[in-house]
Amino acid sequence: MDYKINIEKTKDWIKSNKEPLIISGPCSAETEEQVLSTAKAISKIPNVKIFRAGIWKPRTRPDSFEGVGSKGLLWLKKVKEQTGLLTTVEVATPKHIEECLKNNVDILWLGARTVVNPFSVQEISLALKGVDIPVMIKNPVNPDIKLWIGAIERINHAGIKKIIAIHRGFYSFEKTQFRNPPMWEIPIELKRLIPGIPVICDPSHICGNKELLLSVSQKALDLEMDGLMIESHINPDKALTDANQQIKPEKLNDLLSKLIIRKKKSPSSKHNILENLRDEIFKTDVELINIISKRLEFVKEIGEYKHKNNITILQLKQWHNVIKTRLEIGKEKNLDKDFLLKLLQVIHEESVRKQIEIMEKKK
Ligand code: PEP
Ligand code: MN
Repeated sequence: MDYKINIEKTKDWIKSNKEPLIISGPCSAETEEQVLSTAKAISKIPNVKIFRAGIWKPRTRPDSFEGVGSKGLLWLKKVKEQTGLLTTVEVATPKHIEECLKNNVDILWLGARTVVNPFSVQEISLALKGVDIPVMIKNPVNPDIKLWIGAIERINHAGIKKIIAIHRGFYSFEKTQFRNPPMWEIPIELKRLIPGIPVICDPSHICGNKELLLSVSQKALDLEMDGLMIESHINPDKALTDANQQIKPEKLNDLLSKLIIRKKKSPSSKHNILENLRDEIFKTDVELINIISKRLEFVKEIGEYKHKNNITILQLKQWHNVIKTRLEIGKEKNLDKDFLLKLLQVIHEESVRKQIEIMEKKK
């Protein structure tokens, strides 16, 4: 599938942006004093370019703090004037957009709960027609890459080219160490499908706590994410939303200084170590593909034999035996059990599919 999405590079619209792009600020704007003191402290941290604050908050239950509403936009105006930081706010309705544009918010963002709903995204897209403002688009709550891409397409079709995608993890029914476990393969696939799209990571909503922020941030950068959005608050213990995951500006400074920024490109020389190793990996992959193809030839013969002798395709006992024996070999080779099991399942799935094809053709 070819997605026709036209995106501008962030360095073309964020002045003197050095990678990674760092966005920080409170989960919610609560008081003028909290917003301004957080912003002033953050503005002293090198590399923080954008100040975030939720004005309208999507809360799971009613009667929780739902944000201060439009008056918070006046505080953000002061942030711009007093610190020079760019400002960004979550919008979920055309009315929110109108208010943000009236108050010169620099960048809008769509939250995970909005991106799941194509009706909402479509209404937002209509409200953005003819407006030149950057929009950041979080992944939807559920790990559905097409829904994420659909939202990006809808915003892009409104004429918005300044787009950033944000990986904020996905809801999981299972209890994990994360609030919203990351699924790195999804933002990586997004980058593959939409070449040139900047993707940043929101470790705060992934972690749901302060302790894992550094390791998730480092992992995001190591996976070529283009920036980070980290929640910070002048007094996190007193925060009205997401108190567990917000950090003080000085902690943010500390975290950023611990990050290792690795080079995105390997040295250009043809004969460097990395290139040689990549050649070896290529040769190994060719062998792997040949072996898989050889395996499938045997599968074909087995399929034909089963058809001739009226034997079922799946024999659970044999499948158990395959898993058991192969995992034992894998253990000797120090292969991760879950990885090998997944690999065997994918191979087996293809083997079953091929045999069904044979049975059906010969019906
Ligand atoms: C937020 O950024 O404060 C927020 C509500 O995030 P998400 O949409 O990722 O849940
Ligand atoms: Mn939050």
